[in-house]
Amino acid sequence: MERFYLRCLWVSDLSTQSWCEQQMVYGKELPGFQSAEKAAVLGAGASIHLARELELHDLVNIHTSTKEDAWAVKLLNILSMVPILQSGGTIREFPVFGEIEGVFLVGVIDELHYTSKGELELAELKTRKRPMMPLEAQKEKDRFQVSLYKCIFDAMVKGQVTSASLVHHMKLSPELLLGSQVQKHAHQGGFTVKSFGDLLELAILSLTLSDLPVIDALKIEYSHQETDAVLGTEMVVFEENRVREKLRHHLGYWTGLREPQGVDVKEAWKCRMCDYATICEWRKSGGRRASTLEQPAQKMSR
Ligand code: SF4
Repeated sequence: MERFYLRCLWVSDLSTQSWCEQQMVYGKELPGFQSAEKAAVLGAGASIHLARELELHDLVNIHTSTKEDAWAVKLLNILSMVPILQSGGTIREFPVFGEIEGVFLVGVIDELHYTSKGELELAELKTRKRPMMPLEAQKEKDRFQVSLYKCIFDAMVKGQVTSASLVHHMKLSPELLLGSQVQKHAHQGGFTVKSFGDLLELAILSLTLSDLPVIDALKIEYSHQETDAVLGTEMVVFEENRVREKLRHHLGYWTGLREPQGVDVKEAWKCRMCDYATICEWRKSGGRRASTLEQPAQKMSR
């Protein structure tokens, strides 16, 4: 994490890592290397997500000039969505964060709603370029992603995510005054706050005192990018021990305990569709460790 100047990890990076760790590392080191086709697919996916988000709420532009302001916007989003969820409504793009297994994780849940049985269900939308369900390996990556969201969300509503932990990991200054646009937006939402710390305490209190349940069900919906037709849905069985074990393995790389690994021989088919196949050290050496950790940080292209 120090090598990449990271204070937290994104859940989406961890799920990419579960596809191929070496590929995820190349993605960080060589961000411009991604094929134009893949970038276009991701861009189209983002547009569909935005369209769904706009079905439920408007977007407001707020100028932020400090990292505290940027976090304040996330906290304001949480504060505006908690009451909707409390009253049985549906929310989209809910920010989640918290320390899990010693590392600070952040992410955004696509959708949370209640089922007809009254269970709190997380729904993750995955768009596909081709009109067919993904292979098992892709589904496994997506299952890991939503399972991590559940770990973080549950910790948030159980009061296990503290303001001290956020301040410590993200190196934030609670006493810093919020920017005028952020303060104005907070005021419009009914919150009289001046400093980042005021808002943080309010958001943490709102999460822990709101009696929100933990997530009961995890659903992934696959849809076709071009037509928006639903290709199928997957209900994910949450296996906490397995998820945490996998997370600890992934964090071994991020905390510098081990070198990055590429795919197993039985998953070598992934290399055929990989943007980095021509330069991949892991692949060239037939599955030995790559040497990226030995490169000096200043040589990285960021
Ligand atoms: S070529 Fe294979 S091992 Fe190398 S990064 Fe790509 S998928 Fe991973």
